[in-house]
Amino acid sequence: MTETSSALADVTTNRPQPRASVMEIAAYVPGKSKGSHGVTRHKLSSNETPLGASPKAQAALIDLAGALELYPDGSSTALRDAIATVHGLNPNRIICGAGSDEVLSLLAYGYLEPGDEAIYSEHGFLVYDIAIKAAGATPVIAPEKDLTTDVDAILARVTDKTKMVFIANPNNPTGTYLPFDEVRRLHAGLPSTVLLVLDAAYAEYVRRNDYDSGMELAATSENVVMSRTFSKIYGLASLRLGWCFGPDHVIDTLNRIRGPFNVNGPALVAGIEAVKDKAFVEAAVQHNETWLPWVTNELEGLGLKVTPSVGNFVLIHFPDEAGKGADAADEWLLERGCVLRRVTNYGLPNALRMSIGSEEANREIVALLSDFLKK
Ligand SMILES: *Cc1c(COP(=O)(O)O)cnc(C)c1O
Repeated sequence: MTETSSALADVTTNRPQPRASVMEIAAYVPGKSKGSHGVTRHKLSSNETPLGASPKAQAALIDLAGALELYPDGSSTALRDAIATVHGLNPNRIICGAGSDEVLSLLAYGYLEPGDEAIYSEHGFLVYDIAIKAAGATPVIAPEKDLTTDVDAILARVTDKTKMVFIANPNNPTGTYLPFDEVRRLHAGLPSTVLLVLDAAYAEYVRRNDYDSGMELAATSENVVMSRTFSKIYGLASLRLGWCFGPDHVIDTLNRIRGPFNVNGPALVAGIEAVKDKAFVEAAVQHNETWLPWVTNELEGLGLKVTPSVGNFVLIHFPDEAGKGADAADEWLLERGCVLRRVTNYGLPNALRMSIGSEEANREIVALLSDFLKK
């Protein structure tokens, strides 16, 4: 060893050391927000809504600007009451968080420790992997069938170390969903000591008779929680607001470990107005009902394979041909100021995820991809 490298070794060992599991985390890489040359015409990389937020939510936020010196209500009482009224739930069984990401992390911290295992699905949301490892536990990945969560594959991986199962339903980035009888079958097959987390971030968009976000199951089971977000259909991603509904004892656990004022005041007042504005949500659903099939059909018409989606985004698969793959398509779109999401770190190296945008954005992406495939 040279003098310099032994000095370097000293530098890295003679300083505070993080827990080993922390160093196994690949930090979350969000969707890009800018095209090449710093120009963004359309950002369709994070499943944000093209309709913005309810004007009532915006007005509430502006009103609060004169009272920023005051701490918010640490218990999110008025927001929990509003959510409970809209969804017919017991407000005492709801907890709010700084995005559903925080709620998912609190669940992992509350229920996992080193040596424990938590299962998620092959192309599942990567926040689960981060939350599980941050809690010191071991992620176990269940393979999927046709890019869809596979209940049998999950059940086959349950051991006596399994403490949690995370399911996004519908899933991001695939857009596929599990019919509710499959969710019930999963729940029925799990030991009663395993906590089943149903992440229903896109529930409002789903229009399928056999879909259910799992509120009733969470209301009647001791080991099921369902999480929701204000980031997607409500258009409040910037404020960081989410919640979950579950058994009293789970909510009690999360309340013990959350920060005392984990949800900020602007998020609380805007969230209350947003959840009550049913007409706004309905308009967003209608927009998606028009443009999700349109985008899917047009892309398929170009010869691209699109995974059938029930969310506000589609997963587009590109040809295995040099110059026609997802990397080249991404570059082509970025050059023209259009930002989609690469999903290589979700195990989908030759696909791009496209959020359903405004009419103008949707038409432009389809036209650009048509040019791309012809070039
Ligand atoms: C976007 C998304 C969320 C929401 O995260 P927030 O922290 O509430 O913004 C949760 N789960 C999935 C699967 C998502 O795609």
